[in-house]
Amino acid sequence: MSTVLDPIKMWEDLHKIPELAMQEVKTAAYVTKTLQDLGIEVQTGIGGTTGVMGIIKGSEPGPVVMLRADMDALPFTIDGKECAIHACGHDSHTAMLLAAASRLKDRVKKGTLKLLFQPAEEEISGALAMIKAGVIDDVDYALGAHIRPIQDVPAGQICPAVNHTASNTLRVEVTGRSAHAARPHLGVNALDVACAIVQGTQNMWFNPTNIWSMKATQLHADQGATNSIPEKAVITFDCRAQTNPLMKDFRERFAKLVEGIATGYGATATITELGACPAAEYDEDLKQMVIESIVRTHGQEAVAKDCGGGGEDFHYYKMHKPTMKAAYFGLGVGATPGLHAATMHFDPKYLPMGVDVMVDVVERLIG
Ligand SMILES: [Zn+2]
Ligand SMILES: [Zn+2]
Repeated sequence: MSTVLDPIKMWEDLHKIPELAMQEVKTAAYVTKTLQDLGIEVQTGIGGTTGVMGIIKGSEPGPVVMLRADMDALPFTIDGKECAIHACGHDSHTAMLLAAASRLKDRVKKGTLKLLFQPAEEEISGALAMIKAGVIDDVDYALGAHIRPIQDVPAGQICPAVNHTASNTLRVEVTGRSAHAARPHLGVNALDVACAIVQGTQNMWFNPTNIWSMKATQLHADQGATNSIPEKAVITFDCRAQTNPLMKDFRERFAKLVEGIATGYGATATITELGACPAAEYDEDLKQMVIESIVRTHGQEAVAKDCGGGGEDFHYYKMHKPTMKAAYFGLGVGATPGLHAATMHFDPKYLPMGVDVMVDVVERLIG
């Protein structure tokens, strides 16, 4: 007997148990039990994390297809109390993937379907932990999805590609030389150097047909006294680029600029990467399949134009295994006021649409 599970009901359950990155214990238990009840093979504690994988094998040889959902919620402080809230909708992704599992469990004829419930997307550490555990080594196709805010995709429509940008957080530590403020010529003012570096980065130009930005978001330079030349300054930069090659170009020019300015002032500067996330790289043929699946399941009028913005650690999978085909669609659910707002809410009635697309793509690949 086959049970088809309702994504809305499961979303309601999961929405009540929001958990932070790498702490998705109850969520993972819910996922594990649901998969087990469906009779699907389950691996838990993947790579020592809360990651869960369901595996459905076909009887004939064929490709390995992976559907991926993320499970973590975001931290907030409300009325002075720390809490976790599903403000990015990862509960809905987990619910949609479980619903897809229930529909696909007897419909994989060839190859293998992997259902990956990934922890810690928000901290950009979950995908890397899954890769380390070898999860994608045998995967030929990877499909991800995210609900979209109303500004990106109209409710009831689906965009076939979410074009996330690459992001980098860089810390620049400038070391000058301390001196008495009355004798600035005897020192090297790290604050002056930091300001020159910030100014310099604002004059870096790249092809304006690409999306990119670099902005200083933090600056610390304080030796404790107001009459002393500060020896140290620390700047944090948030950088975004449309493509991975552009980010690479960005990083190289940034390093030269920082070093050149620091040297010119008689200071030194070191750059440390605090965090990074690759840009989306999709395969046109798999994206085309997603478009066809949207049309097959909900008609041409359900196809929205591609959207962009933000980062996603899903793209580490493709970066780690470039031969694997990847696609990632965005589901318009009327999310407002926007993702990551504590009050983010949406209409779950649209979730079955996302399930339909996942199921249709998988059936066409290995059904
Ligand atoms: Zn998020
Ligand atoms: Zn998210």
